[in-house]
Amino acid sequence: MDEAFQRAAAYISGAKRILAFTGAGLSTESGIPDFRSPGGIWDRYDPSDFEFQKIVSSKRAREAYWKMGTEFYGTMKDALPNPAHRALKQLEDSGKLDALVTQNIDHLHQKAGSSPEKIIEIHGTAFTVSCLECGKGYPRDEIEARLAAGESDPTCDACDGMLKPDTISFGQAMPQDRMEEAFHHAETCDLCMVLGSSLVVYPAAAVPVRAVERGARLLILNRDPTPLDNRADTVIRDPVGQVLPRIIQALSLDSSAG
Ligand code: ZN
Repeated sequence: MDEAFQRAAAYISGAKRILAFTGAGLSTESGIPDFRSPGGIWDRYDPSDFEFQKIVSSKRAREAYWKMGTEFYGTMKDALPNPAHRALKQLEDSGKLDALVTQNIDHLHQKAGSSPEKIIEIHGTAFTVSCLECGKGYPRDEIEARLAAGESDPTCDACDGMLKPDTISFGQAMPQDRMEEAFHHAETCDLCMVLGSSLVVYPAAAVPVRAVERGARLLILNRDPTPLDNRADTVIRDPVGQVLPRIIQALSLDSSAG
């Protein structure tokens, strides 16, 4: 075991309140492409076509948005959690995990068995849809079935309002309550673990920044460099799906104690 690996294990072992902050790099090993990577979905679609204001103001933009969304959702729907997601569930069972703040919209933490009350989806979820007028919620599959049956711009069956997946689009306000909750955990954790996030998307990346400012240790496991590397106590640049399970296993956390 190299030094960084041992240091990471020691930090986790000594921590009492861990905030795990997860990003797209955690899901790539489950076959979900990072849509910002070359060859990703934004090579074929123009992100500026899917700004929130365009979606709500143009039927044509909404139709294109649903078309893109159906393709993207298709890659997520049947994806399975990988060893990194399972390692986080193991960490929760040990009693050390305070919160799991995720930028991912793919439900893989839930599929791995992490408790819903630990998970804070700051960019929303692709698995539900809401009416922008009356707030009525729908399972995504129900709306996808309507799209598959020929609708191109589905509307609410209660009020005929516009429907939108519960993901945060470009130009759409972040969910205030979830951001506040995430910041609260950032202020009270003693270790912040960044897992598979390049920390370039704000305000999401402000969560680990807040943790460091409040004195928490920072551990970064990400394949690529991040703007916070110079403030981290340890940085490991290996695929998170390989390194995190090894660290958690090396700790042999006692799950019966949690
Ligand atoms: Zn409605």
